[in-house]
Amino acid sequence: NSLSEKLKAKIRDVENFPKPGITFKDITPVLSDSKLCRDITEELLSRYKDENLDAIVGVESRGFLFGMLLAYELNIPFVPVRKSGKLPFRTLKHSYDLEYGSASMEIHVDALQNNWNVLIHDDLLATGGTAAAAGALVEQLGAKVQSFSFLIDLTFLNGKDVLKNYTTKINSLVQY
Ligand code: IMP
Repeated sequence: NSLSEKLKAKIRDVENFPKPGITFKDITPVLSDSKLCRDITEELLSRYKDENLDAIVGVESRGFLFGMLLAYELNIPFVPVRKSGKLPFRTLKHSYDLEYGSASMEIHVDALQNNWNVLIHDDLLATGGTAAAAGALVEQLGAKVQSFSFLIDLTFLNGKDVLKNYTTKINSLVQY
C-alpha cells in the first residue's frame, strides 16, 4: 500500500553501523516528516482502536516514539521497557541471549495490572530477541501480550517465529 511505500522512501540504510558488516535501518528521516508521522499514527490507531487494549508497552528507545503516540491516541497508559539499569524504581529483569553474549531488559514492577491486554511496540523486528524479552516481562507481571507492532520487519530473520509463543498477532507497516 502507499503508506508502506512512503515509509520505504524515507527509511535510510546506513552501512557498517553500529558494527562493520551491518546495515542499519535509520528511521530518523521518517521522524522529520511530520505528515508521514501523522499518517503512521492514524494507521496504528485504525488497526488497534477496537482491540480493547489496556496499555502500550514501548521498547527502548525507538519503541517509545510511536508507542507513546499510539497510547496517547487510544487514551491508555504507556509503559517503557528499558535496558538494564535505566529504570529508577523497582524492576523485573529478563535476560536473553545475543549472537555474542547476552542482554537484559527491565520493566517497573507496578507498571501493569493483572490480566491487562497489552500491545508491545518497537521500531524494528530483527531476530525477535528484544521483543520476546518484553513479552516475558509483560507475562511475569500477570498481563497478556495481545499484539506485537513494529514499523519494520526484517522478515528474512524470522523474528516472528520467536514471538509466536506469546501471540500470533504480529504486525508491521514495512517488510524487507
Ligand atoms: P532483535 O532483538 O534482533 O529483534 O533486534 C531488534 C532491536 O534492535 C530493536 O529494539 C531495534 O530497535 C534494534 N535494531 C536492530 N537492528 C536495527 C536496525 O537496522 N535499525 C533500527 N533498529 C534496529
